[in-house]
Amino acid sequence: MPEGSTTVPGRGYEPVIGLEIHVQLSTRTKMFCSCALSFGEQPNTRTCPICLGHPGTLPVANAEAVHFGLMIGLALGCEIAPRSIFHRKNYFYPDLPKGYQISQYDIPLARDGRLGDVRIHRVHLEEDAAKLVHAGASGRIHGAAGSVVDFNRGGTPLVEIVTEPDIHSAGEAGEWLRLLRATLKRLGVSDVNMAEGSLRCDANVSIRPPGTATLGTKAELKNMNSFRFLEQGIDAEVARQERLVRAGEEVVQETLHYDPVSGDISSLRSKEEAHDYRYFPEPDLVPLVPSDAMLERARAALPELPAERAERFERDLALAPATARLLAFRGELGDFYEQALAADSPDPRELASWVTTELVPRLGDADPAESKVAPDGLARLVGMVSARDVSRSAAKEVLGVMASEGGDPQAIVAERGLALAGGGELEAVVERAISANPAAVEQIRGGKQQAIGAIVGAVMRETKGRADGGAVQAMIRERLKL
Ligand code: ADP
Ligand code: ZN
Ligand code: MG
Repeated sequence: MPEGSTTVPGRGYEPVIGLEIHVQLSTRTKMFCSCALSFGEQPNTRTCPICLGHPGTLPVANAEAVHFGLMIGLALGCEIAPRSIFHRKNYFYPDLPKGYQISQYDIPLARDGRLGDVRIHRVHLEEDAAKLVHAGASGRIHGAAGSVVDFNRGGTPLVEIVTEPDIHSAGEAGEWLRLLRATLKRLGVSDVNMAEGSLRCDANVSIRPPGTATLGTKAELKNMNSFRFLEQGIDAEVARQERLVRAGEEVVQETLHYDPVSGDISSLRSKEEAHDYRYFPEPDLVPLVPSDAMLERARAALPELPAERAERFERDLALAPATARLLAFRGELGDFYEQALAADSPDPRELASWVTTELVPRLGDADPAESKVAPDGLARLVGMVSARDVSRSAAKEVLGVMASEGGDPQAIVAERGLALAGGGELEAVVERAISANPAAVEQIRGGKQQAIGAIVGAVMRETKGRADGGAVQAMIRERLKL
């Protein structure tokens, strides 16, 4: 069927999405040995007989990884298993020297939680595989064609988080993953860098007629490494499934790869080819039984999380939900905002509006702590606007100077003559604007109130935006005896 043509008019199908997220933990050492984690070191320099899978070596679970796993489980509102078991997940691949990955299977570390509107099915601990480096068609790596293996990553601690299928659009999936990422970042348990693979997301996607409760057959999109690709991939897969169903065909359960460059979806393996991992309990590791002290320590290590912070901003500071989330989900922004609030107690909503609509566009993705705008400086600028010491548009100019050169808002206003125009100066300007716009005056007197805009505009032009619009309107009315 040609793209875009549909046989069923009206409402489409409802997408159903569940996510599986792998998080590399930023522990000092690997999951089951004492090798340091690797950050771009020379290949194969952070290995030992244990993570290289030599026979006869014994794994020991990393206490810090368990601690981070417990923190994540608790932060996601899960029940922590009193006793969880490590299993061997058996399969052959060149990046897996033991021939199995140590993971958790029937009894995960934590289960049945929630983050935002999405239920968490399970949270478990495992180890990462090594990294295959593929030589391109023409490329050779260290003299070798084909692929080579860098074992530095092998054995890095991972937490896998599996959601229930509670997500219903690509946008919701992206927004929820942002919340999860912000939460993990706040916990300080991972770098959560998607481009570098410390946060990786698979999306399970199915569709169903709206209003039905049974789930359709799902397909799994593997390893999306940016928010944009996650959303694009889900949209493309939902569209593909809709085309299939509308053409009377069936969605088959398979694992898919989304190519963000071409937008194509290709099959990696179907259900028939699915692995049988022959899980069995890892005989070299004791069950994981968190003591009360371990649980207490994990609980005590939880900071205020982004979702709670957003709620607090809404409740205590009366911020709009979207503003509260923007500030709370980008932790550095929330910190900047709260520092500014503490510095000069400006109006919280006004300050939030300056941060989100004026500062954020200047920052892009950068950390506000690295910008030249100091929190207390912005707070004072906002205070000056509220006190009518400076007009809103002049204050934006001041912020521009603060962002490029730094400095104190009061000093910048004084140096550049940006103080709010008022008194005799403004009266003279208003007088001139009225004389210069007789047609507008005529219209206003004739009842056309909007015509006052032309005179206000003339005043703003002459004062270069240093006047207060409301005050100017009042002066014009008074002068025209309206
Ligand atoms: P599998 O056994 O194939 O791994 P699971 O039941 O473990 O499947 O679920 C894996 C992920 O897929 C979870 O995030 C879950 O929410 C999601 N999921 C399961 N069934 C569906 C479905 N029909 N549509 C969308 N997502 C689904
Ligand atoms: Zn090692
Ligand atoms: Mg599964």
